[in-house]
Amino acid sequence: MILVTGGAGYIGSHVVLSLREMGHEVVVLDDLSRGHEDLIFSPNFVQCDIRDREAVGSAFARFPIEAVLHFAARSLVGESMREPEVYYDVNVNGTLSLLSVMRDRGVNALVFSSSAAVYGEPERTPISEEDELRPTNVYGETKLFIESMLRRYHEAYGLNSVSLRYFNAAGADPEGRSGEDHDPETHLIPLVLDVALGRRKEIAIFGTDYPTPDGSCIRDYIHVTDLASAHVLALKSLIQGKARCSAYNLGNGMGYSVKDVIDVARRVTSKPIPASAGPRRPGDPAVLVASSDRAQKDLGWRRAHPELEEIVATAWEWHRRRFSR
Ligand code: UDP
Repeated sequence: MILVTGGAGYIGSHVVLSLREMGHEVVVLDDLSRGHEDLIFSPNFVQCDIRDREAVGSAFARFPIEAVLHFAARSLVGESMREPEVYYDVNVNGTLSLLSVMRDRGVNALVFSSSAAVYGEPERTPISEEDELRPTNVYGETKLFIESMLRRYHEAYGLNSVSLRYFNAAGADPEGRSGEDHDPETHLIPLVLDVALGRRKEIAIFGTDYPTPDGSCIRDYIHVTDLASAHVLALKSLIQGKARCSAYNLGNGMGYSVKDVIDVARRVTSKPIPASAGPRRPGDPAVLVASSDRAQKDLGWRRAHPELEEIVATAWEWHRRRFSR
């Protein structure tokens, strides 16, 4: 059985769907502080905070857990700068507590939800796993620190792990079972779709004076179902018993500007989507694009939904069903 922490969240819930499609039995652990009850796609559910060592320990006692996929975390860059203590506590302490339970129970396989935020302001594009790791915010720092913990646990205790560094997770389950639902919402695509639905008046473009062809930031949007398939492959490589402690970028390898995203959303939704030029958001690098060659080579990962049109279209299907009044 596979334990998925944060399995009621955006990425976690899609991974649960993929795991079950591949025949895995899953237990979801989530405190539902950010996750959603209706996005728990497993009959096995434990509601608890990742920092609650006793409750996490009882989940391991109750279910025959062979491996862990660890998503439970705080994940907003801006919030991490305002409330660093919460981020160190939930992300770092919470993970340490989980690792300690895993060690007690002799479970030594972990797939970790890392982030492109570990790179900070990149020196070159596309970003490869060998590039420098210099996070510029607390959120990215916690992810990098956990990656270091995993390396030390590998060396000292034989924990095998794969860290997956996501670029911009986007889109929704093509069958409409799950999608993005954050409160507050801060991500570009759902905000743009909120404008299309009439829930917001306009989308502010955070900076139009970047050194990019149209002046707005460029990001690498990767379909959440493609992220999910990478987790299933990472798990497979761990179950096959290879001793490893590795990290992989997961992105599309293609950059799209904020203005590109708005244009595609106008086409997909057939709505005008008014946009206005706003100031830069502090800490935003101009361009973040991944090289995912290593994940393709080592894990055999292939993206099934690379087109931005399809990413936005699946998000739109989800968004209008979930949020239409
Ligand atoms: N962005 C924007 N307006 C918004 C929200 C985001 O222009 O209301 C930009 C943001 O500056 C970044 C891109 O959209 O360049 C993606 O931001 P998001 O918050 O979705 O993801 P991040 O790159 O921070 O992980």
